[in-house]
Amino acid sequence: MREIAIVGGGGGAVCLLDALSQASGPPAAVTVFEPSDRLWRGRPYQRDADCILVNLPSRAMSVRAGDTRHFDRWLADRRWQTGALREASPFDVAAFPPRAVFGDYLESVAQQSMARLDERGGKVRLVRERIVDAAPAAGGAVLTTERGTRHEADRVVLCIGAGVPHDGFGLDGPEPGFVPDPYPVARALAGIDPQHTVAVLGTGLTAVDVALALGAGGHQGPVFLLSRHGVLPAVRQQPVVHTLRHFTPDHFRALSDGGEVPLSEVVGVLRDELTSAGQDFAELETEFALLREDPVRRLRRQLDLVHGQGLGLRILQQTLPVAVDVWPLMPYRDRNGLLRRHYRAVHSLCCPMPPSTGARLLAMSEAGRLDVMGGLDDVRRSGEGFSATADGRTIHADTVINAGSVAPHRVPPAAAPLVRSLIASSAASAHPHGGLRVRRETNRLVADGGSQECFYALGDLTFGSLFITAAIPVIVKLAREIAREVLAP
Ligand SMILES: Cc1cc2nc3c(=O)[nH]c(=O)nc-3n(C[C@H](O)[C@H](O)[C@H](O)COP(=O)(O)OP(=O)(O)OC[C@H]3O[C@@H](n4cnc5c(N)ncnc54)[C@H](O)[C@@H]3O)c2cc1C
Repeated sequence: MREIAIVGGGGGAVCLLDALSQASGPPAAVTVFEPSDRLWRGRPYQRDADCILVNLPSRAMSVRAGDTRHFDRWLADRRWQTGALREASPFDVAAFPPRAVFGDYLESVAQQSMARLDERGGKVRLVRERIVDAAPAAGGAVLTTERGTRHEADRVVLCIGAGVPHDGFGLDGPEPGFVPDPYPVARALAGIDPQHTVAVLGTGLTAVDVALALGAGGHQGPVFLLSRHGVLPAVRQQPVVHTLRHFTPDHFRALSDGGEVPLSEVVGVLRDELTSAGQDFAELETEFALLREDPVRRLRRQLDLVHGQGLGLRILQQTLPVAVDVWPLMPYRDRNGLLRRHYRAVHSLCCPMPPSTGARLLAMSEAGRLDVMGGLDDVRRSGEGFSATADGRTIHADTVINAGSVAPHRVPPAAAPLVRSLIASSAASAHPHGGLRVRRETNRLVADGGSQECFYALGDLTFGSLFITAAIPVIVKLAREIAREVLAP
């Protein structure tokens, strides 16, 4: 019977606690370390405005492995009837509850998991402190909190999340006008003058949240979403049930035969998957080719496809939980090339926004209140505000909101000392594509000198090794695997 430490108490920790509490031989003790006031919710699902929605249908947001109805049942029990949600957003073809409601669900699952562990004889402890140091010790590890308290554990799982948007233009400082982190939007955006011009750095899901929140709050001034590529998330289509026949972990394992699977073969398997479902691969090729289409035209076109017959995009999105099995099999050169040339496209198409969100953005754009631009190459303070250059145009903004990507190393600032200590004690090594190296078979950290026994990682920290791992369906799959691993004799 093992003592397990979980560093970070957000969504990943809840999925792991649930899996541990369901295991046939539960752990002797679990200690969760979480310093923030967003226990179990993490940054994404904190209490916030209702216009900020989950970006997957509720059925895909269950945290119980193998039970896709778990979240829907919880919603129904609390009168968050999916029908009522559909009425609230007539454009949507599935339920996309507010993210804060998903946070309530995470809290309730965490409470139930702790009670279940307790009933089964496990000791559960919460330590509201940040871990700043970790090192291997005989058969386990020693963790040190920021107050200097030491904790021993047999196995340690890092669930430290993704951190905040990177301040790539060095705008943070004592002067007003710059919002370094837009969450919770209800608080971060509250002081913005409704007539001001707002530049949002980023055109991804976070930037979309900001635009929506400004729109819902009655902002009157112009809003610019600015990024290097100017690519919005795609619009999610009506969900379909599709069982993957070719794009499966087993198929890729067989293909690799202990070696590598080049990107061209991965694309070939995707083509087979679509062909066997009677779909035309050209639909996907068109979406990739139209990535740089005018963002508003692309948005309008994709909104017209919400009820479309083509299943190519929806099948591509269903391959996301399998990507963690395929990515480590690809040659480094191919992974590097894909990240450099196609990451924007893959992320936009595989992590789309709810249709009602797309429709609201389009309405803001048609009302002349929202512009989406690429080619962002500079933002600086100028006079009382800021000037930003994008697509060869200079925009003056009164307020700049940071809503772009995290730093390329993908280590959240709160976890930087911890990660440094793990590398210094040869328990971990940095991955050149971001985060720490992990071994896919075990989800264990890999040190330069080889694998070690006791440290595991779940979530965005594994990006370089496993690709897109932050979405809930992927976290649920990996949390179940890690629960098995840490409890194995
Ligand atoms: C804004 C946003 C919206 C998202 N929306 C969706 C969505 O709708 N659907 C979806 O599937 N996915 C979504 N995601 C992906 C999201 O990353 C996952 O769903 C999930 O929340 C990740 O959980 P996590 O535990 O990895 O990170 P988090 O939930 O962020 O939790 C990490 C926790 O670790 C703590 N921590 C960090 N360092 C330390 C330390 N040194 N010691 C102790 N604790 C520490 C932090 O305080 C934090 O609470 C979203 C992500 C973001 C950023």
